[in-house]
Amino acid sequence: MDFSIPAELTTLRESFAAFLEREVRPIHQRHAESVRRGVFTDEMRSDARAIKRRSCAEGFYAAYLPEDVGGWGLSNLGMTLLVEDAARSGMGMAMSALGPPNPEAPTPLLLELPLHLQDIYLKPLMTGDKTMCFALTEPEAGSDAQSIRTKATLDGDSWVLNGTKHYITNGDRADFAVVFAVTDAQKRAHGGITAFVVPRDAYIVTKTQYTMADTHPVELLFEDSRIPADHVIGEVGFGFYAAMKFLNGGRAYIGAQCLGMAQWCVDQAVEHATVRTAFGKPLARNQGVSFPLAESKVEIEAMRWLTYHLAWQVDQGEVPMLDSSIVKYFNTDRAYQIADRCLQVFGGQGLLKEGPIEAVLRHLRMLRVVEGASEVQKLVIARAMGL
Ligand SMILES: Cc1cc2nc3c(=O)[nH]c(=O)nc-3n(C[C@H](O)[C@H](O)[C@H](O)COP(=O)(O)OP(=O)(O)OC[C@H]3O[C@@H](n4cnc5c(N)ncnc54)[C@H](O)[C@@H]3O)c2cc1C
Repeated sequence: MDFSIPAELTTLRESFAAFLEREVRPIHQRHAESVRRGVFTDEMRSDARAIKRRSCAEGFYAAYLPEDVGGWGLSNLGMTLLVEDAARSGMGMAMSALGPPNPEAPTPLLLELPLHLQDIYLKPLMTGDKTMCFALTEPEAGSDAQSIRTKATLDGDSWVLNGTKHYITNGDRADFAVVFAVTDAQKRAHGGITAFVVPRDAYIVTKTQYTMADTHPVELLFEDSRIPADHVIGEVGFGFYAAMKFLNGGRAYIGAQCLGMAQWCVDQAVEHATVRTAFGKPLARNQGVSFPLAESKVEIEAMRWLTYHLAWQVDQGEVPMLDSSIVKYFNTDRAYQIADRCLQVFGGQGLLKEGPIEAVLRHLRMLRVVEGASEVQKLVIARAMGL
């Protein structure tokens, strides 16, 4: 076993760190007042797009996709390390510089589109000119995604879609949606769910769903939405496998985001505990403060190696469901607990929007539900144990 990070990935991390300092830090600082008030302005949104474009030009954004569509085939481990570093920087906008784990970014699923459609849909995502959304969840089908009701029927040279999707991140700004619909009600997950590319003018955004996090997804309505017959991703009937492959393949990135955020929280809490005094001594001199941080360090190392191992497995050509679920469950759960402990170290300052932990804690709370809640991951793990 070789646990070392390949030298070329260390060099890549150094260039990405320089990019974050040069391109993202000044923008992050410019918006300090909005961050202090906990708002995300249109100007911030437009700056986030600018960061994405610069990152595209420098080759970091969606670098893991193949060269012929505009990436350069960076390994899953390489992309994982970049996601970790962006998250550890503590600058929310740093995540705009990378594709995953953001659902508005290009997904390898689109490599299964016919070539002429890759030019229209995938390539503009790679240059930051378009964004997408991933529409699987419905009001009656979340954890049990194979129970979706949205239907697609072939009518001449068009598919006609009817149904409602909700909790769709970036659904209001996306140029198109990747939509999962039932094409054979008998077969459902086993050959009866198909993935489609649906242009923005074929569906309606019915409402925004405001959450406790800074991400506010939307509800989408498909009402006799007509799309050309060739707008199918992969094979008709096999969209559910594609969705699961996409979600499992991306678990290392969510794991890395949690790892980076947890490390950011601990870095901040260690510094604060060393500088802030109470009862005539630094906070850190109380084991009630230092031990939770020591425990966090141990958990961060466990998160790190579970994540890197998963990324390494994906690079070997496997998408191991069990390991993906372990990382999704463990990292989201531990990172949230770590952020909570670190917030406590800050006392009242921890609760302020301008403090370093508050927004991170809210985001991590969301990650314990989205893309498969913790309980669903435990279900997968238990099944793998024969339970
Ligand atoms: C901010 C946000 C962004 C999102 N973005 C997207 C997106 O871009 N695209 C998309 O398709 N979806 C998206 N989702 C949907 C998300 O993936 C679902 O919310 C999630 O899968 C859970 O589904 P649900 O909310 O319907 O909960 P339910 O399925 O109703 O489950 C509720 C709870 O019950 C428990 N539970 C469910 N089944 C079991 C079981 N078998 N055993 C034990 N416990 C169980 C879990 O704790 C779960 O949290 C988003 C959601 C949010 C909140």
